[in-house]
Amino acid sequence: MDPILHNLNPAQKAAVTSAVSVLQVLAPPGSGKTKTLTARVAYLLTHRNLRPWNIIVCTFTVKAAREMKARIKSLVGDGTEAKLVLGTFHSVAGRYLRRYGQHIGLDSNFGIADTSDSKAVVKRIIKSGGYTIDCNIARSRISSCKAKSISSDQYAASSKNAEQQEFAMVYSEYESVLKASNLLDYDDLLLRCAHLLQTHPQCVSNVEAVLIDEFQDTNIVQLDLMNQFAQYKKHITIVGDPDQSIYGFRFAEIMNLNRMQQQHPDTLIIHLEENYRSSGAILASAQQVIEQDENRPNKRLQATHGRGERPILRRLPTAAAEAEWLVTEIKRCRALSGNLLEYGDFAILLRSAILSRLIESVLGKEGIPYRMVGGTRFFDRVEVKIVLDYLRIIDQPNHNDAVLRVINVPPRGIGEQTVKNLSDEAESEKVSLWSTVLALVQGRTRVKAKISVQAMKGLSTFVSVILTSRKRRTDADSNNVSLADLIAHVTRKTGLEDYLKGKYKEDFDGRWASVQELVAQAADMDAALARGEEPEEETLPAIEGLEQRAFAATQDGLSVFLANVALSTEVQKSTEDGAEAQQQVTISTIHAAKGLEWAVVFIPACYEGSIPHSRAEDTNEERRLLYVAMTRAQVLLYLSCPVKNSKKEDAALSSFVASSAMSVLFAQQGPVVDRHAVASMAKVLRRECPTTTGIAAAQACLHRDADDYWPLDGEQPTVESRRWDAGGNDKVALPGFNFVGVGHRL
Ligand code: ATP
Ligand code: MG
Repeated sequence: MDPILHNLNPAQKAAVTSAVSVLQVLAPPGSGKTKTLTARVAYLLTHRNLRPWNIIVCTFTVKAAREMKARIKSLVGDGTEAKLVLGTFHSVAGRYLRRYGQHIGLDSNFGIADTSDSKAVVKRIIKSGGYTIDCNIARSRISSCKAKSISSDQYAASSKNAEQQEFAMVYSEYESVLKASNLLDYDDLLLRCAHLLQTHPQCVSNVEAVLIDEFQDTNIVQLDLMNQFAQYKKHITIVGDPDQSIYGFRFAEIMNLNRMQQQHPDTLIIHLEENYRSSGAILASAQQVIEQDENRPNKRLQATHGRGERPILRRLPTAAAEAEWLVTEIKRCRALSGNLLEYGDFAILLRSAILSRLIESVLGKEGIPYRMVGGTRFFDRVEVKIVLDYLRIIDQPNHNDAVLRVINVPPRGIGEQTVKNLSDEAESEKVSLWSTVLALVQGRTRVKAKISVQAMKGLSTFVSVILTSRKRRTDADSNNVSLADLIAHVTRKTGLEDYLKGKYKEDFDGRWASVQELVAQAADMDAALARGEEPEEETLPAIEGLEQRAFAATQDGLSVFLANVALSTEVQKSTEDGAEAQQQVTISTIHAAKGLEWAVVFIPACYEGSIPHSRAEDTNEERRLLYVAMTRAQVLLYLSCPVKNSKKEDAALSSFVASSAMSVLFAQQGPVVDRHAVASMAKVLRRECPTTTGIAAAQACLHRDADDYWPLDGEQPTVESRRWDAGGNDKVALPGFNFVGVGHRL
């Protein structure tokens, strides 16, 4: 049997082998969409003889890209997968821009402004221009404009009132600042790439197939890009699920599925129906939640696994008690499974990253290893940001914001006023802050502002750190001075260690460890380059007759490293992958958990205001978010809600959970609730759907004997307990623990 088609059901097989030009695979969670897409890439490589550099594959997160590459490797296994043009939309767009950006007037050595960079720019513009618009609103509106391809000029031309005009000015200044610093933000990467491919279609003349995962979360520009990629050879495969569209708040367009069908009337749609991920009971409860959306076409998930354990809903007095309970439960599950469940089998999925604090502290106290995904990123840690800012300046001296952030960090006697004077001076001369500082230190110009002797000394030190590092960097090409050495040089020259020691007496060790971690990552990258592994940009093939950037000459570790940092959305540790990750509990935002799966999933803080979130505009999107979270679970699913939230306010059970729990309770199939939950449910129901039956039913529950509820502690096994073995197929009996093994390990 062909290993690529092995283990696929007939519908999946049809999708993998289909010879149509445009294909949409629309299916619910866990039905094997990603598996199908991956198999199709392998199939195109091996059975249709497509060359990997002629295939573009877009995923939604860096992690998904990495996993997909690993899956393809296991199917083709000859190193071909490394040559695919595979990555997030942003990274693929970035690759084209670096290679061919010169054709649209872009300096191909551009830096990438991540979310916090671009927020800082907006903040500064608003402050210095005396604008009144809120920084977050302005930032988000800029992104919204860009997602819809509206330029600042276009916006200005159509603005109708003073408020819109003010925003247009902020938007336009923002664009100038990025341009002057040679920076592109995330939206620019997509927009500029679309522009490049429109004006210079030859760049994609080689592309033979385009495949996209999680299509329901694409925006208009991404849809446009997809079509541009496929403009020579219309060969497009997308997979998606409208029920899992959760990025509307970032201007994703659920309508893209229909738009695509209209643009390509020959689109073949394949539906997959069986769910291979979750137990029947978990699916039933997730279904209860999503079905509350009345505008959605009725679809059912077909479980391929047995019913398994019923999901559990737990009500606890406080958020702290909830965190304690959750960690105890993880330990209990592990113990009952005879440690066959590893920490890596558990995930805690949160509506907002901020909820992780209490849970992290209990995990830490208990010595349980964990990793945080989608929250405060490793690269956002203060000490890591300092080093990265120095690297950015070394790479791009015109990066004004990076210069502003670290010109006096560690403190070297350069006061705020001095910095302001220098910035003003730079602005009026229309040069970068760095150029002004450099000219001043080198005695080439005088500035109007008075600079104290001490500040002058500080400025010289700063300039010397950057210049010596830049020199080392150029040496690096000839003498093999590594990126890790460059970082060590920066920390030494700036005296970072002493600075951190003085400033963070309590947790200096942790902070210094982060800096060391960064050095370790840089060393990994050095090693990869030394092994001759090509930077990802190299996967784009040379196109005859089209001028392109010559990588070998200009590409070095630093710019690749910085681009990777800016495009990664998660905590990255050099040791994170593989064995290590298997030993860590995952804490993740629900958004970042998309497409992934775990044996045991906890969804804490299921209260009104958290999910649905108090600031969310679209209740249906919030409900889909809970649905995405619930459908990540394979075997055990826990929902919980404290009576008082972390701010000690009353927390009402999430109406999504309350209504679903209520309706399934009496059908004897879904989440089983405890006394507190029922009480709170009755309260919510009274408010949400004041029908006598609902309330009467809830109240009836309250008077039932405690034994009728799911006993959360000390439960005796009733079903033979099973779990897959390491090889993936055979199930192994687990004595003393009550759950049914489902699914196959990848
Ligand atoms: P999501 O919508 O959450 O992204 P998905 O549709 O992409 O889900 P996959 O992640 O591809 O689903 O698959 C879910 C799980 O089911 C994976 O563990 C996968 O290996 C398994 N699976 C998919 N198809 C089959 C099959 N035909 N036989 C056995 N297992 C399968
Ligand atoms: Mg998927």
